[in-house]
Amino acid sequence: MNIGIDAGGTLVKAAYMHNHSLKFKRFPISRLGDAASWINGFEKAKICMTGGKAALLKSMINYKVAEMVEFEATCDGVRYLLAKNDGSEKSYILTNVGTGTSIHHIDHNKQQRLGGTGVGGGTIMGLSQLLTGLTDYEAIVSLAAKGVRDRIDLKVSHIYEGAEPPLPGDITASNFGNILPQGSTDPLTKEDRLASVIGLVGETVAVVSVLAAGHYGVSSIIYIGSSFVRNDPLKEVVESYTKLGGASPVFPEHGEYSGAIGALLSL
Ligand code: ADP
Repeated sequence: MNIGIDAGGTLVKAAYMHNHSLKFKRFPISRLGDAASWINGFEKAKICMTGGKAALLKSMINYKVAEMVEFEATCDGVRYLLAKNDGSEKSYILTNVGTGTSIHHIDHNKQQRLGGTGVGGGTIMGLSQLLTGLTDYEAIVSLAAKGVRDRIDLKVSHIYEGAEPPLPGDITASNFGNILPQGSTDPLTKEDRLASVIGLVGETVAVVSVLAAGHYGVSSIIYIGSSFVRNDPLKEVVESYTKLGGASPVFPEHGEYSGAIGALLSL
């Protein structure tokens, strides 16, 4: 069995071939021992690992393990997924919204890491916990889908009340900037707080990606990372802000497994 592993800050992702089809598996980093037992349970295995927790996981594995640089593995995995989905993109911005966010410029076979932002999936988890006490990813996302951001986030239209704004009125002028002046007695719901957390993260990653796309003269932005898994609220914010910035967002299926796929392909 050939297995590619991406052991990240929050989740361990695995990709492997079974009966000629690509399969995936995921473990929370808090259950690293389970990931190790799963790998050690194979009779024969060829393994390549990538990601920040690869060295730690490697120390728990009975097999010889190859290692690969994370950014190369991720970019190779993305190329594979795009080709599989008949994607025509050859030059694009790749934004990986994992625990944190990493931004790359891919031009055919060359990749360059442009930078990143600490605002990412970990921010969704951390700020959501601080503001609502919730710690479960699925619960956070499903409540966020029901929230309304108007009483928390300040929109351009709030500032230009009654006047013609120079920007689309729906754009956020200040994330969380509408809280102080309102003085309402009507308490903010968990749903509203969570929607605003996701808005903050989605807008931030989309805006930095759009700026990178403009700088490099590319129109496609490929978004990957487990932060998009079953997370329509985040996808919607990222999609609308990317389009507003004049670029085209792409969310490849299984994009969160790109690093694991890249590691698998190297075997
Ligand atoms: P990393 O490689 O840094 O672990 P990922 O691409 O796996 O990053 O993304 C981690 C983020 O994915 C989390 O911060 C969270 O927002 C989101 N996520 C998706 N599914 C889960 C889950 N089951 N448990 C925790 N976080 C999840």
